[in-house]
Amino acid sequence: MFQPVEEMRGREALEALQLERLRQTVARIAARNPDYHRHLGKVAPADLGRLDDLRGLPFLTKERLRDAYPYDLACLGSDPVLRVHMSSGSTGAPIVNPYTAADVQQWREVMARSLATAGVTARDVISITASFGLFTGGFGFHYGAEAIGAMVIPVGAGRTLLQLQLIRDLQATILVGIATYPLRLIEVARQEGFDFRQTRLRVAILGSEMWSDELRARIEEAMGVRTYDLIGMTETGGPGMGIDCAARDGIHVWDDHYLVEIVDPETGSVRPDGKLGELVVTTLTRQGLPLVRYRTRDLTRIRSRERCACARTGVRIDRLQGRSDDMVIFKGVNFYPRQIEQILLRQKGVDHEYQIVLETEATRGDRLVLCVEASAEFDRGGEERLGQEVHDFLGLTPEIRRLAVGEIPRAQGKAVRVVDRRVGLGH
Ligand SMILES: [Zn+2]
Repeated sequence: MFQPVEEMRGREALEALQLERLRQTVARIAARNPDYHRHLGKVAPADLGRLDDLRGLPFLTKERLRDAYPYDLACLGSDPVLRVHMSSGSTGAPIVNPYTAADVQQWREVMARSLATAGVTARDVISITASFGLFTGGFGFHYGAEAIGAMVIPVGAGRTLLQLQLIRDLQATILVGIATYPLRLIEVARQEGFDFRQTRLRVAILGSEMWSDELRARIEEAMGVRTYDLIGMTETGGPGMGIDCAARDGIHVWDDHYLVEIVDPETGSVRPDGKLGELVVTTLTRQGLPLVRYRTRDLTRIRSRERCACARTGVRIDRLQGRSDDMVIFKGVNFYPRQIEQILLRQKGVDHEYQIVLETEATRGDRLVLCVEASAEFDRGGEERLGQEVHDFLGLTPEIRRLAVGEIPRAQGKAVRVVDRRVGLGH
């Protein structure tokens, strides 16, 4: 463990610390941002007698953060901004996160904890495949690796052939990046006759995208690695909010830094442990952009507050199930891309790349098309089986478009799983 005392703190001491830090966060907002303070109903630290009092505070939404572009919700005072990171802004204004010196340090600490949880030590060589830039990924891994003393190969995004070469020649043991990037590596390795089992790679730490358990199993099989699921987002200060451990019994949230609640996405009321709902995050140690009850739109549930087999005590949540705004509504049926991915990747001969296409045909109305890349093995009854399984699950009959491996266009960054070309009202 990178910080054994903090990571194994007893629950009572942890909750006392959370309350103290929650009050500090509220005090910081009150002192440095009158608008944000007003949004919180001018709550004062003394109003928070116990942790549950947090429930009386309003939510912070993604829209509100976007509208605050660039610094309207920042709580800087006299602290200089050392750096900014921001979301891609693909669906509106980007969300800007200003980091103070303490924020950079905080990030370094939680990333180091996360890497150590995945078994990274000073003897490791880490290939960073996430981009170094406005996106938080590259730098976060870099800081964490430096804190541990591991060697870093800062390749950044893209240049897949070079990535493979460096993994081999510089004897990388750890690969880190966004969750679907290993799929590019696997494809290029296949074309080049590159064998991951001839390398020293043993662990992949991945996140920032939805990846089902089935996809995870495929990455582990093809690369001969053990994967770890890292969570975090631009709004919370980047990756490093939590990670699963070797016991693979939920994701440990570093809850001395991030207080999590699960709420009903419709009513906003807090859901009991074990029940699925939307993840809401309150940051306890962030300075530049502290979050109070931020609605992430990620769906998960509290799995346990007990001590884990690895001895860590932080709250554990399930792997993220997808985002509430990823939900597809087709002919009145709701589903998540992840659910289709699970069915697809169970099929023999189906490759890891796929697309769910929703389109309108003049004479037949809307249709659901599953574009799958498959080998000859799939041609022996695979199409009927897949169609049947999707029908059993959704009650809809998909059209299956069988493509050769490599036909679906590859995204530069995060994978594009759903293409909605429907026309008409409501789309
Ligand atoms: Zn654990």
